[in-house]
Amino acid sequence: MSIQSHEFKTEVKQLLDLMIHSLYSHKEVFLRELISNASDAIDKVRFLGLTNQTLYEANTDWKIKISVDAENSILTVSDNGIGMSKDEIVEALGTIAHSGTREFLEQLQSKENLQKADLIGQFGVGFYSSFMVADKITVISRKAGLPNDMAVKWESTGDGRFTVEDTKRDGRGTDVILHIKEDEKRYLQEWEIKAIVKKYSDFIEHPIYLEVEREKQSELDKTKTVKVKEEEKINSQKALWLRDKSEITKEEYDEFYKHISHDFNPPQKVIHYKAEGTQEFTVLLFIPSKMPFNLYFKDYKIGPMLYIKRVQIMKNCEDLLPEYLRFVKGVVDADDLPLNVSREMLQNNRQVEIIRKNITKKVLDTLSEMMQNEYDEYVKFYREFGKILKEAIHFDFSKRDTVGDLLLFESINSAEGNLIRLKDYVDNMQEGQDAIYYITAQNYKDAVNSPYIEIFKKKGIDVLVLTDPIDDIIFTDYEYNGKRFKAVMKGELDITRSDDKTDSKKDFEPLLKFIKDVLDNKVKDVRLSGRLTDSPCCLVYDEGAVDQRIEMIMKAMGQTVQEQKKILEINPSHPLFMTMNERFEKGINRDELTKFVKLLYDHALILDGSRPENPSDTIKTLSEILIQSLKT
Ligand code: ADP
Repeated sequence: MSIQSHEFKTEVKQLLDLMIHSLYSHKEVFLRELISNASDAIDKVRFLGLTNQTLYEANTDWKIKISVDAENSILTVSDNGIGMSKDEIVEALGTIAHSGTREFLEQLQSKENLQKADLIGQFGVGFYSSFMVADKITVISRKAGLPNDMAVKWESTGDGRFTVEDTKRDGRGTDVILHIKEDEKRYLQEWEIKAIVKKYSDFIEHPIYLEVEREKQSELDKTKTVKVKEEEKINSQKALWLRDKSEITKEEYDEFYKHISHDFNPPQKVIHYKAEGTQEFTVLLFIPSKMPFNLYFKDYKIGPMLYIKRVQIMKNCEDLLPEYLRFVKGVVDADDLPLNVSREMLQNNRQVEIIRKNITKKVLDTLSEMMQNEYDEYVKFYREFGKILKEAIHFDFSKRDTVGDLLLFESINSAEGNLIRLKDYVDNMQEGQDAIYYITAQNYKDAVNSPYIEIFKKKGIDVLVLTDPIDDIIFTDYEYNGKRFKAVMKGELDITRSDDKTDSKKDFEPLLKFIKDVLDNKVKDVRLSGRLTDSPCCLVYDEGAVDQRIEMIMKAMGQTVQEQKKILEINPSHPLFMTMNERFEKGINRDELTKFVKLLYDHALILDGSRPENPSDTIKTLSEILIQSLKT
């Protein structure tokens, strides 16, 4: 029989190194991870067996067994699940499948040791965490459906290599055999194991047995005792979601959530209910308190677990929740779906659609209650997940008003970082104001210092501050309770001082034309502004133009973006413009005026966050003007 030696992939080596030298104070999680793998393995064979009975091998007595050999410091976790073939074990226990793990490791490189320890818990590093307590691990596994002599033995001391060789195993399944380190021997004690299982894995739906040694009276000689091995079931096995709400403690919910999410923090909100009526299903959902660090990774799995009559069918069923609720985790256990349901069937299934509608509504109702009754908690939630939730405005028209009620924004009339409800904005709108005004900007400071909101400040009209790049896509054509969203940087504004504007327009027309000629085709138009009170001028887009930041993103992605010319708006009451007009009317020195116009345009570019086209020319003209004014 040949022994093959393999090298771990680089990222596994890094991870192992971390585990072996770990300072993490809750090393006991290794047992949770092994039990969780065993339970997954049983779920898999149970599911596959529904359509391929031979995999059951006449044994559907699902079981996870923990046994201890104290003398030799060995702890074994066994299961009769799907098992692994030789190729599978090399792949599964030699590489790391999730891209998230790699990112996690990168994050770790830069962290101090103590913070590293914390992250281990947050991440839940699976099988490899056993190297925190074991100096050698042997895994014996036999894949369901293969003969007993086609089992495989995997072994490693965590030093960068592992070996695999052929072996035998009675029945399908896996034994993970830990050779416990000298100073971690407490994990061989019965009470310690029981306490860990109770804490982390009580609700695992398969029975977990602990093999214990008991002293018993000898049958042969009643005066003597003998040691016998007994198996004792140590988890209550009751699926948490099927238990009565009133009997479940916060700790139990928290542990279950951590188990399914690999999150270190307790959830912010638990949603647990049973739907009765034409469709019966039980739902246990969690809103996390922190954004999962892998939410934006490609392999982030969307959707709660789907159980059908207590059998796990899918770890993530994306048809059960809309994408804008992808941060929600949990379990849905349906009674009325066929057990052999396929992914394709789920997609167009009417019952699934009913469940999806029901739980979407429930989550949104829960958020709405939170907003009304625990505003501070809601704000915490919103800071984490608001940017995901608001995608609903763009993607789910049927929920535009409902989700609109849940939106929070910064605004120029409230302090930086303060979030106000959209609903309150609308309730406090000024008489005659018929649009919800917003400004998109890199950050709050840029927004409040922007020339685009001068008139709003003057009139006391509030403007929402939108700082996420996707905001402009989401809100351009949004109407909330009959009020449309309007960008203050685009198009003409309805709130402008229309009375003085029409008068002055006539007076200034020749100068405006002159400016337009000077700027030639740089701008689309030159007009008087209603939005400026302090700044001399600004550049605005036409209504319906693509937001500048979106334009930048599109360019960065290599897309060709049609050039969008802006409109130069001029503040008619600004002294700069008034003086220019006086000179213009007197008809003197067109060359000098041309210089002023170019300078005015540069002003607008700078205020717009752009660069003057020719900075050295700008500075030259400015210096000339400065020198002149110093001379006089
Ligand atoms: P994860 O469980 O998050 O995928 P692990 O490192 O814990 O990561 O396990 C890696 C893989 O090894 C699993 O995805 C599974 O395919 C396999 N595996 C681990 N333990 C078992 C087991 N007891 N039975 C069958 N396969 C297992």
